[in-house]
Amino acid sequence: MVPPRTSPQRVSAFVSEHREWIERQRRRSAPPLYWPLPPAVLELSALGQRWHCSSSAGSARVRVRELISQRLQLMGRLDDLESLRRSLTGWLTQHAQRSFEAPLRALGAQMGVEPNRLQVRCQRTRWGSCSRLGTISLNVCLLFQPPEVLRYLMIHELSHLRHMNHSPRFWADVARHEPDWRSLDRELLQGWRRVPSWIFR
Ligand SMILES: [Zn+2]
Repeated sequence: MVPPRTSPQRVSAFVSEHREWIERQRRRSAPPLYWPLPPAVLELSALGQRWHCSSSAGSARVRVRELISQRLQLMGRLDDLESLRRSLTGWLTQHAQRSFEAPLRALGAQMGVEPNRLQVRCQRTRWGSCSRLGTISLNVCLLFQPPEVLRYLMIHELSHLRHMNHSPRFWADVARHEPDWRSLDRELLQGWRRVPSWIFR
């Protein structure tokens, strides 16, 4: 990490100059090692929301109920982890669907493009895609990313409505709306580590 022949003084000068940045990176790159299920809290960074989950175990099948704002109640057979996992992922997908729609349309309007349809999916391999028919798919796991990363991905997919490729003209279009796209694109490589491990079986 440190270039060879860098004096310790220079390193510590760098560190104190960039302390805030380093702290931010550290926070971002150090997700919890253990994701409890049921979770106590769902930190949806992309939306600036923190959902508190309360559990009430019972004998009925698992249900996720939305109480007042940013409170969830997990009910039923909570030791059936597979059902609990599926119910939570289902709720997250619905929540992302209704939360992503308006910002996606607003960004599209700014960029002069209009997606046909938004589809939120739970996928292990891609963050988003854009079909020839104008359907934009966004990964539910974007909920756990910083807001600027979600915004970048929306700009990326919306730009595909004009360019169905990753040509220089495509990237020029992206850069017009997000000059910092390179570092945000790199953030996505680490993004999987911010996603609760229980989302994927
Ligand atoms: Zn792309």
